[in-house]
Amino acid sequence: MGNHEPFKVIIAGGGVAGLALANMLQKAGIDFIMLERRDVAPQTGASICLLSHTGKIFEQLGVWKRLCASTLPLTVRHHLDEYGKLFDSSSMFKDAMEKTGRPVIFVERHFCLKTLYDSVEDHSKVRENTGVVSFSEDEDGITVLTDSGEKVRGSILVAADGVHSTIRHLMAEAVSQDDPERSRHLIRAFTSSYRTVFGTSPNRPGGDALPLDGVVYHIYYRNLSGITTAGSKGLIFWFLFIKEETSSSTPDCPRYTESDAAASIEKYGDRIACPGYSFRDLWNTRVKGSMVPMEEGVVRGSWNNGSRVVLVGDATCKTTVNGGLGGNLAIEGICNLVNELVPLTRATPAPTTHDLANAFNRYEQKQRPRAEISYASSNFVTRYESMDSPWLRFLRWLSSWIRFRSETKGFLSYIELAPFLNFLPDPDVAEAG
Ligand SMILES: Cc1cc2nc3c(=O)[nH]c(=O)nc-3n(C[C@H](O)[C@H](O)[C@H](O)COP(=O)(O)OP(=O)(O)OC[C@H]3O[C@@H](n4cnc5c(N)ncnc54)[C@H](O)[C@@H]3O)c2cc1C
Repeated sequence: MGNHEPFKVIIAGGGVAGLALANMLQKAGIDFIMLERRDVAPQTGASICLLSHTGKIFEQLGVWKRLCASTLPLTVRHHLDEYGKLFDSSSMFKDAMEKTGRPVIFVERHFCLKTLYDSVEDHSKVRENTGVVSFSEDEDGITVLTDSGEKVRGSILVAADGVHSTIRHLMAEAVSQDDPERSRHLIRAFTSSYRTVFGTSPNRPGGDALPLDGVVYHIYYRNLSGITTAGSKGLIFWFLFIKEETSSSTPDCPRYTESDAAASIEKYGDRIACPGYSFRDLWNTRVKGSMVPMEEGVVRGSWNNGSRVVLVGDATCKTTVNGGLGGNLAIEGICNLVNELVPLTRATPAPTTHDLANAFNRYEQKQRPRAEISYASSNFVTRYESMDSPWLRFLRWLSSWIRFRSETKGFLSYIELAPFLNFLPDPDVAEAG
């Protein structure tokens, strides 16, 4: 690629981050190619909670209406003790909707990914079953080698390839001689002290059904907790969180099989998940379900090597699932990245490696504080809901008597500070005008 060839982004990974990035680049008129190792939008039984500030970005991308049409807004969180008795409640979702004009919703992850995929106009830019194996850079661009031996040329490589990011490992290898500490941070980026069994199961028909009323149930046990909510299409989305006996770090976090998940249900399945259901009921009738470690942490050091490669999404930060923040955070991150790339490529059609690394640094300066706060708050919620220490058990006991929770206030200020695509009209301002 010569200096005068058009700018082109190679996206590694077609998860939430990769597909949202493809949509943002399409809106910005920046060329891209996305390489996804597997199929795009697989049905894994996972669901995803999309927050109001993600709704604003998705509205700018033109996908929010379709996502909302498939479900109902979430309203309140009910906190239940180990007997299933309500001890606290918060209207944070309703308050977020009133404040921002956009709901918080829970949808099948498969549907979210499919919606983002369908909105990419030129599907030849999305290559399934094409994994990135390695890359090499020169002063004009980058060449990616795929698992079928093909070479793909572009201007930059955005690593949206998840928690086990191949590209983060390649970056670690590249600096291992000169900066072994940085290399270690890139590889051993995350720890895991909890795992989750999760799934999607049919709701019972009739009077016994979990009402489709936007309530999210959080249930607290010692070293164990759960989240359950009724979704549209007669489905229940559910999660059981279990404290591990020993913590681990990437790349050595366990990979669980179906029989590992079944063994955890054998042990803990009799616990109440929500009114009318135990975790075993939900597991036994699952449409799809699985068990995974909950890695957490923020990659230390820089998210780029001063070159044409940059990390985004779960490749940079993992939050435990309880807060429902990880996917939303990934979308924020690429929003911050694209907000840097757009003015740069408009001013300089062929930016230098130095210009690009500076833009990547500016993106990281904006995103890292959001990543740190999302990681820390999710870390706390996971441990609080599973009453992980005597102090947290005391706090949980106290919360039945004293309403000291500031979760709504914290949540509203968190979503207020989120970015949106600043090269597109602000839908809130446009509406007001
Ligand atoms: C059970 C569960 C429930 C969750 N619930 C929520 C929630 O309610 N709300 C929320 O905000 N977040 C939630 N999260 C977190 C959220 O799913 C992640 O933060 C989000 O998926 C991150 O998106 P990503 O695109 O960065 O990574 P991923 O979704 O992991 O996508 C990475 C993609 O890259 C592909 N890939 C990997 N290696 C390569 C390669 N070498 N070349 C090409 N492609 C490659 C993978 O196949 C994959 O498709 C949940 C997570 C879990 C596990």
